[in-house]
Amino acid sequence: MGEASRLLVKLSQRLFQDEMKRAEFCDRLIHPQPLHPCILWCQSLPELSPFAVEPPLPWQPNWCDRLAFGQQPGKHPLHDQGAFYCLDFSSIFAVSTLLTIPAPVKLVVDVCAAPGGKSIFAWRELQPDLLISNEVIGKRIGALLSNLKRCQIDSARVTNLDPQVLAENMPQTAQVVLVDAPCTGQSLIAKGGKAPGCFHPVTINNNANRQKRILANSAQLVAGQGYLAYMTCTYSPEENEQVAEWFLTRFPQFQPVAVPHLQAYQSHLTDLPCYRLFPQSGLGAGAFTLLLQNTLLDESQALPPDFLLQTRAIAPNSSAPKPDPTM
Ligand code: SAM
Repeated sequence: MGEASRLLVKLSQRLFQDEMKRAEFCDRLIHPQPLHPCILWCQSLPELSPFAVEPPLPWQPNWCDRLAFGQQPGKHPLHDQGAFYCLDFSSIFAVSTLLTIPAPVKLVVDVCAAPGGKSIFAWRELQPDLLISNEVIGKRIGALLSNLKRCQIDSARVTNLDPQVLAENMPQTAQVVLVDAPCTGQSLIAKGGKAPGCFHPVTINNNANRQKRILANSAQLVAGQGYLAYMTCTYSPEENEQVAEWFLTRFPQFQPVAVPHLQAYQSHLTDLPCYRLFPQSGLGAGAFTLLLQNTLLDESQALPPDFLLQTRAIAPNSSAPKPDPTM
């Protein structure tokens, strides 16, 4: 057995007590299965979808569709016209915690935004006056801008800042903050992709620590009574439940929020309302999600009026850099 397979088996042992469940989980990673493509309708809904659509899950917004196998929405002319955004079902699952938040809201900050799927979902669901889609890695900004522009997300501004700079410049301003955290990306393996070193304890530990730093800074952005949505696309408990438990010890003013429509996906690794999609469900490659609420009183400050100018935020409909062809 190679090193990666040995580490995968160890991960499955940390995830499941039951031998059958471990085997099912490992099998989905060793033999990736096709997954239904999904789309998010960005503007109005078509009278008749040009795609063959799977029956929706009970909680699925009517502007998200799971498509039949073999559909290629990215090649349809409506894609280039910005009618919809293509994403996978795991992303819809992870960001669906936002469906419990009353809309509209004033400000949403997406701290780890590129290439933009969760930002577009947040915009569609929460109808914010302003959406700040931030991406710290400069070479990922092009794809983010081009997606927001194509989908006509007109209330969005893109920033290219470290989360610490955001925290220092706009404390307690956002009603909703999204942290779709960089992670080991173990679920990429269930899609037939590559995520080098994703099962290695050192990689897992480095990613968990990076997530803690990002969450600690992102917590500063959340207005009183506002929400922090934390999610990843990886399986290891050290990056997910254990980061959530660390966060709640460090930031006791936050409380976890139960999300009724995800109850069937309750993580069996914690008593917190953390939700997981595993690849063996057949719905998606995998995701982890937790919604937190700041219990402090709402004393949110108005945005500093020149904040976006100071940080050279870019409107997606201004002339955008060319998208990164590798994305
Ligand atoms: N939310 C995106 C979407 O739905 O399209 C996907 C985000 S991806 C899972 C995580 C993002 O975090 C990447 O774009 C990555 O560049 C960014 N990232 C990496 N290191 C970071 C850091 N130290 N602080 C903030 N973001 C970081």
